[in-house]
Amino acid sequence: MKTSKTGIFLTFSLFLLLFFSCAKNPSKEILKAQTELALGTVCNINLFEYGTEELYDLIFKRLHDIELSMSINIESSEINRINNAAGKNPVQVSPDIIFVLSQALYYAEKTEGAFDPTIGPLVKLWNINSESGYLPTQEEIDAVLPLVDYRLVHIDEKNSTVFLEKEGMRLDLGAIAKGYAADEAVRIAAQYKVKRALIDLGGNIYAYGSKEKDTPWRIGIKDPFSPLSTPIIRLDVENKSSVTSGVYERFFEQDGVRYHHILDPKTGYPVQNNLMSTTILCSSSMAADALSTSTFILGRESGIELLESVNADLGNEQEAATIFITDEKDIFTTKNVGAYNMLLLDESFTVR
Ligand code: FAD
Ligand code: MG
Repeated sequence: MKTSKTGIFLTFSLFLLLFFSCAKNPSKEILKAQTELALGTVCNINLFEYGTEELYDLIFKRLHDIELSMSINIESSEINRINNAAGKNPVQVSPDIIFVLSQALYYAEKTEGAFDPTIGPLVKLWNINSESGYLPTQEEIDAVLPLVDYRLVHIDEKNSTVFLEKEGMRLDLGAIAKGYAADEAVRIAAQYKVKRALIDLGGNIYAYGSKEKDTPWRIGIKDPFSPLSTPIIRLDVENKSSVTSGVYERFFEQDGVRYHHILDPKTGYPVQNNLMSTTILCSSSMAADALSTSTFILGRESGIELLESVNADLGNEQEAATIFITDEKDIFTTKNVGAYNMLLLDESFTVR
């Protein structure tokens, strides 16, 4: 076949045009890890060689949208619309809310109400997530306890509505929504053919793919006695989320007593047992989030029972593993933590 000089010139010009327009287009630049405030925390995402501006924007937009829908701190959020209509009328909501709330109710049932998304009135009373916590009186606690009951939440999937039976009830998805957001970030990344990414939503971590070919990510578990210090445990993970719930995350102290943010719906007080933290490793960050809070509330023995029961539902691929750290610096793990090459980095702790 004969090719004319003009044809070659045009092809070459087109190539140059494409080359320079791609090189000049900032959206094709690969950006280093990006950080934004979302979901009430610092969210850090690293997409490595896949990190275009568009993809970071897309993922962060999704996180902000989830916050707009699920935050109790945003008056117009869907969650607050449900809360404001408690005892009055059902409220039409997005598929996101129906899905996350259904999952929250699943964990509420599995834990017989130890994990309860209607914890809102107690969270508001204790005010622990704000700058200044408040130590309520027993009367104040008794007054709101009847409003904390997941069995009074009615989801109508056909009409996409949610109804809270009693006036004054308040949903709070703070123990599960960050996990959902991390899963959504991963879903979008995967949709754009990203092969590896690190997603850290305020300690709710997703190590997606592997670090390099056949090399897992290495993640650390913080010292629950001094969460700013170096990690005390190292784990090799691939395609897994790691989520920790602990007494050190958010708390206030009064008269030498620490009041933290994970509340026992039966007593109305912060959960008191010998645990400092529980960590869950799971390929679903939402399951990891819900399970870290649930196992922390239930304690070690009932927590392991819960895990076995939930794992039977999740199936082998999503199987969750747990690490409990006690106030005596003892570390207990479920057998399946063996798959993560756990390495103790601090000899003052003992693996039991
Ligand atoms: P987790 O153990 O996962 O959850 C503890 C949280 O769950 C508590 O703070 C409480 O909200 C709730 N909870 C307590 N007891 C129970 C129980 N028995 N059952 C079920 N849930 C329980 N923080 C801010 O400071 N400002 C904000 O504007 C803000 N906005 C947020 C918006 C969204 C959509 C989300 C998901 C979180 C937001 N946060 C905000 C953070 C939030 O308030 C919690 O502190 C955070 O989600 C707790 O996560 P965690 O992993 O530390 O603890
Ligand atoms: Mg949680």
